[in-house]
Amino acid sequence: MGAGSCIFCQIVEGKIPSAKLYEDDLVISFLDINPINPGHSLVVPKKHAATIFDIDDDVLAKCAVVAARVARAIRSATGCEGLNVLQNNFRSAGQLIDHFHIHLIPRYEGDGFLT
Ligand code: 5GP
Repeated sequence: MGAGSCIFCQIVEGKIPSAKLYEDDLVISFLDINPINPGHSLVVPKKHAATIFDIDDDVLAKCAVVAARVARAIRSATGCEGLNVLQNNFRSAGQLIDHFHIHLIPRYEGDGFLT
């Protein structure tokens, strides 16, 4: 899938609505449409890059800083007991959207997801 038909590029451009949590010149964060737990969010670079193998260092660094900032907000909004930071690359690793993104997943004792 090229950047032209990429769902996350369309969210970045405002062509598809999203529940936005954060935005700056390089990065956007919004709620996942199909959350594992309430508050499950994504951190997405504005410039299209398919995987961690394609992303520029400065953008990756900014994504990490934003992920920590949004994680703190999710924790205080949800009162979650734990939080997974997850990043999938290629189908064999569970990547469905070919635009780099970091998952922030609030977790609770015994919720039974992932680990
Ligand atoms: P992946 O499996 O690629 O790591 O995760 C893609 C994530 O994007 C999934 O958790 C999925 O629910 C989410 N997603 C897919 N399409 C949309 C959309 O149009 N809007 C939002 N907010 N999330 C989406």
